[in-house]
Amino acid sequence: MDKVSVSQVVAGYFCPVRLYLERSATRGESPRYTISKQVSYQLGKQLQAELLWEEVTAIQPDISADMREFLDECVDACKKKEWRRPVQTDVQVGSERFGIRGIVDKIFADEPCFAITRSSSAPPAGVYTGDRIRIACYALCIKESLGLSAVTGLIEYIPSGTTRLCHPEPRDRRAMLQGIHSAQRVLAGEVPRKPVRAPCTSCPYEEKCLPGVQRFSDFM
Ligand code: SF4
Repeated sequence: MDKVSVSQVVAGYFCPVRLYLERSATRGESPRYTISKQVSYQLGKQLQAELLWEEVTAIQPDISADMREFLDECVDACKKKEWRRPVQTDVQVGSERFGIRGIVDKIFADEPCFAITRSSSAPPAGVYTGDRIRIACYALCIKESLGLSAVTGLIEYIPSGTTRLCHPEPRDRRAMLQGIHSAQRVLAGEVPRKPVRAPCTSCPYEEKCLPGVQRFSDFM
């Protein structure tokens, strides 16, 4: 079986039905992510909004000019902090043992030895559950692929210009395992059972998750 990506692990944890519906969809990169990623590459150097916007428009020629405001906000937020320089970016890692793979955004020379880049604002405190699962996955993959003891990871919340440290707890690794197993079943073609909390108001598939329907296959 092919390895499951870290984003599929997170999706499998939160909702296997949504993962099932989106499993063959090709989603383009969001403009927010393109901007956050380019800003992140420049952290630790002098941030130049004009230069960054040139790079962003080279990567996404059709990006709306309105997104320039978002880039400026990210640059302003990130200028307020000192940033470490990574020794390498975009490193492919994986775990044969657990059947997962991903690309870790940054590797550093010392602890915490890795970081992931997010295009979302930071939560008021701590780290989002999905990001705790991401860090748990990458810590496992980095240890197996690179032989580094990655106990904790950093999350760069670019629009907030901040990083949060995440030390995965047993509950985060349990969530990771749950997500791996759930995603593996979906990608093997198994039709998932609808979560009991459905429908969820922030989901584009809300209408498909009608009350009283037990299995996803019942309403296909
Ligand atoms: S409405 Fe909720 S349960 Fe249904 S697909 Fe969306 S996230 Fe999943």
